[in-house]
Amino acid sequence: MGRTRTPVVSGWFTEDGPEGGGFRLLGTRCSACTAVFFPREDAYCRNPRCPGGGLLAEVPLSPRGRVWSYTDGRYRPPAPYASDPDAPWEPYTLVAVELEAEGMVVLGQTAPGVTVAELAVGMEVEVVGGVLNEDADTGTVWTTWQFRPTGGAA
Ligand SMILES: [Zn+2]
Repeated sequence: MGRTRTPVVSGWFTEDGPEGGGFRLLGTRCSACTAVFFPREDAYCRNPRCPGGGLLAEVPLSPRGRVWSYTDGRYRPPAPYASDPDAPWEPYTLVAVELEAEGMVVLGQTAPGVTVAELAVGMEVEVVGGVLNEDADTGTVWTTWQFRPTGGAA
């Protein structure tokens, strides 16, 4: 069976960014006040100081940022969260990243293998495409965004 890569949330990222830029988060920018929104805001500018009359256009967000905070999840969430007790539990790492140009903080998981031991506040990271889940029955690969250290100086 063929496998289909499907964004876990449509319109929040692209795997084919501008100028061959690869994976990019997608937000929207208000043409009146230049405020940028992620998750994308497509109906109204939410900046209370906006003069109004602007249009919200899709923009790719910074491919890099710096670690603002981080933590990991080491145990299965309790009810009412759905979690298959027979599936092996794999710890995951969450990181909050302050994007380079926008200055906004975006939350995400780290790329596979990147644990809290490899992170530090202020460290440079880049956004990359990753897999959240694979549904063997339908062949659907649910894609998402992840962050990984660039190896650059903090
Ligand atoms: Zn605005």
